[in-house]
Order: sequence, then structure tokens, then C-alpha cells
Amino acid sequence: MKRAKEYFTLILFLLTVMALFQNLHAQKTVLTNCNIIDCTGAKLQKNMTMILEGNKIQEIKKGLYASDSTSEDITVIDLENGYVMPGLWNMHTHLSDLLPDPKNILIDESAPSATIRAGLNAMDGLRHGFTGLRSVHERDYIDVEWRDIFDRGLFPGPRIFASGAAVSPTGGHRGLVAKGSDGVAEIRKAVRERFQNGANVIKLFSVEMLQDEVEAAIETAHSLGLTLTAHSREPDTYRLVEAGIDCIEHGYNISDETIALMAKKGTFYTPTIICNLSAGYINERESRLRAMGLGDDEEIASIRMLINMADERSPEFALYQRQALKKAVDAGVKVLIGSDSMPVGELGFMEMEQFVLSGVSEMTTLMAATRNCAELLGVLDELGTVEEGKLADLLILDKNPLENISNIRTTKMVFKNGVSVNLDYPNGTATFWDYFGKPE
Ligand SMILES: [Zn+2]
Repeated sequence: MKRAKEYFTLILFLLTVMALFQNLHAQKTVLTNCNIIDCTGAKLQKNMTMILEGNKIQEIKKGLYASDSTSEDITVIDLENGYVMPGLWNMHTHLSDLLPDPKNILIDESAPSATIRAGLNAMDGLRHGFTGLRSVHERDYIDVEWRDIFDRGLFPGPRIFASGAAVSPTGGHRGLVAKGSDGVAEIRKAVRERFQNGANVIKLFSVEMLQDEVEAAIETAHSLGLTLTAHSREPDTYRLVEAGIDCIEHGYNISDETIALMAKKGTFYTPTIICNLSAGYINERESRLRAMGLGDDEEIASIRMLINMADERSPEFALYQRQALKKAVDAGVKVLIGSDSMPVGELGFMEMEQFVLSGVSEMTTLMAATRNCAELLGVLDELGTVEEGKLADLLILDKNPLENISNIRTTKMVFKNGVSVNLDYPNGTATFWDYFGKPE
């Protein structure tokens, strides 16, 4: 009976979101009267026009669009001096996870229930402008399934690079993994199994791995053409970078020596600063949002606080990680936006705000959410910047995020693969925040 109810819910859910995308049904879409932040590192381009053809950016030019009479299949959108930038990426997500989980939903949650929550999380992220996600540890290959569903166009969702479950030794991630892969042969097999099941990135819980296991994981993933990353802290981080890993997650207590080696070797870094908050930083952010008129919703503010407090660290530790981020950026390490917790949209924004509060420039922060992500994932030739010939994954804002990073919240339109996303379509009668199970 319980199963039947779950499948009924799934079908209902499928029908409900069918209409989420609003296809413009035009061969060409002209976005005019806009400013472009292309995220190549170039300056803001003012008073621009962009022409989309199908799913691509066909042309970018200066000035307002001048219509010609022979253009029957053209939709012209006046962006009213809005700001066009590449769609955002959240590079550290666990789509079905809950942190915190005050109602203990995760303890005995079924796969269909986790799958539905994961899909809604990803789709909510798209409506916030996150046209790309990297999943770095997920149960039951739920991330792989949603990636394929979105790619096939069955639902409107972001592009996903999916890891499936992290590769871990037994007792990895401080005992979280009860039964993992031990020894070189098992580690190689674990990487190959994920590849076989459709994963297109590999995540390691490497802290508890021995040196030969780390090297085997990296060699095997690279032989299959997969990039890999690891949850790590020192001294694990240094040896991972030395062994040729592509990216580091968290990098707790990362050393200056490691930062220098990452800069030299081109290793990417997802610092997940919002996993290292203290009460002072949370209050600072909330007061900034209130000053902008964006913090009025008491419920959302209180749940934001709750999520963040779940990961609270000492003020000294929080400060150390922020200084490490700044040092990494100054040393030339390519950094990435990753939120760890869900919802992936709101927490992705918060991570971007934390970058700027840590002393990183707004432009570098925007590139950490766009260009750098595409580069790490090997798709920079198609995505990650606003340039002619690239796929039209775009975020359009009312206000300039280079003036205040919190303007990243002033979403006007989102395009994924040339299609305009309906930002208003509700999930149901519940709010997205109901997922958390409101604290009593
Ligand atoms: Zn994580």
C-alpha cells in the first residue's frame, strides 16, 4: 500500500511539472537593451543586444536591436537595462540530502521519496539561475537518473555532472561508510562500477585511504576520462594534489604549501565557505540582506540560520578557511562555488555572498560560479561564458552583481539550452522550505 501511494505521488508530480518550461516557440530570440557580464574576465559590456538561435548564442553586438521587416520568426525581448551572464553552477551538491534534518526524514526514506525531493531541489536550483550542478555523492545513482531525465527533456532541469556514491574505504568519512572499497583492486573496481553505472565525475572520501589507494583511484578515473575530486583535510590535501587530483572539496586546514602546489598544478578548489560559518558571519550576511530589502521574510531567514548553524565552526576556524580562500585566489588557484547543503539555489547564492565577504572580488566570484566550473568539467568550449557560438544557458538579473553580489538574487529570466524557464510555476501548495520539516 505504501509503495502504491508513492508511485501515485510520483505520477501526480510528473503531471504537475509538465508545464514548467515555457518554450518561446521561436527560431530566434533577441535579447536587447541589456548589459553583458560574459565571465571570460572581460569588463562589463553596456547597451548590448544578443541573438539566440535555437539553443545557441548566435550573435552579440553593441546597441539596441533594429528590427527588419522580414523577420517573422523572431521574438524580441527588451531586458530594460538588465544584466546578462552565464548560467550559474553549484559544484558541490547532494541533491537528496538534508542538512539539518530536524524531522529525521533521511533515516528510513524510500528511494522514490528521495528521488522526488532530489528532482525538486534541482529544478528549484534552475529557477534560481543554476543551469548546471555537480553532484558529489548521492544514493542509488539518483543524480545520474535526473541528469538523463533532464538531458532528454522530460523535465526542465539543470545540466548535472553526477558522481553516484563517493568512492571510500571501509570506515571512510569518519566512519560514515560502513562498507567501502579496500586495497588497490577494490578501489579500481569501485571507480569502474560508477563509470559503468553512468557517473561522469568521481568523488573520493580519501582521508582514510592509503597512498596506493589514492593513486589507484586517480589513475583509474583519468583512464576513463573522468575528473575527480575529494573531501579532504590536511595532510590528505597535499598528497592528493601531488598525486594529480583535479579538484579539492572543503580543504579543511589547508596549508600555504598546498595552496602553492595547487596553483602550480592547476588544481581547482571548492572551499564550501558556508560549511565554515560562525554566528558572527551569519549575522553579518543577514543584516546585509535586510539592508537590501531582501531579508524581510522571517521564515526564510530563520530557516537559513538553522541550515547554517548546523555547520557552525569556531570563529577561529571560520576565519582560517576564509583567509585560505583569499590566499588561494591571490595565488591563482581556480576556485568554485559549491554549497554542500540544500536547497542548491539559495545556498549557492549564500556561498557567493560568503566569497565576497571573505575578500574575493565580485568578478572572481561570478567566474567561480560559471567559467571555472565549465573548465574543470571539460565543457568550456560550449558553456561557462557568454560568447558567440556557445550554448544559451543564461541568467538575467535586474541589478548589477558586480556592484553588490547579493544582486545575484534579482533574477529576471533564466535560459537553459536556449529555452526560457518559467520562474513562477509553483511546485504545489507547499513552499520549497517545507522540505526541511519546519522546526517545532
Ligand atoms: Zn558534501
